[in-house]
Amino acid sequence: MKRKPVPPPPRRVPADPGLWSESSRGSVAAYFTEEYVDEQYKCWHCRANSTFTALDQKYTYEVRKANVNQNRQLCEPCWRESHRIAKELASQASAWRESKQTLKIDKAFISKWLQLLELQETYVPYRHDVARKNMLRNLLGNGA
Ligand SMILES: [Zn+2]
Repeated sequence: MKRKPVPPPPRRVPADPGLWSESSRGSVAAYFTEEYVDEQYKCWHCRANSTFTALDQKYTYEVRKANVNQNRQLCEPCWRESHRIAKELASQASAWRESKQTLKIDKAFISKWLQLLELQETYVPYRHDVARKNMLRNLLGNGA
């Protein structure tokens, strides 16, 4: 008889809050965090079950100095994709700043920008840029 494989217990890694960013060191968590434990979560975009591993937490908070008061919302591939989108959006915005007059009649540019913004919304459940989307829709002529 085959037994169902038992999932390994969550991994634990000792924490060193002294290495956190300044704002994290000032947080309540700094007083009681002694170790990191694997954390399960569901990806907000693709609904995949993911793990924010104890080791990754240590790296994120102690090396990258990210704020400890945040939750992981995306799995690794979705996180990378959301960064790619954010980068493209930044380059759209900087092109816009440089040549607004030419670009505001460039429908291909405008609709790509709008699509990127809409795509980004499926990855981040906050900071929807409604004003910018309306501006782009108006420029495409279907916003009024
Ligand atoms: Zn995902």
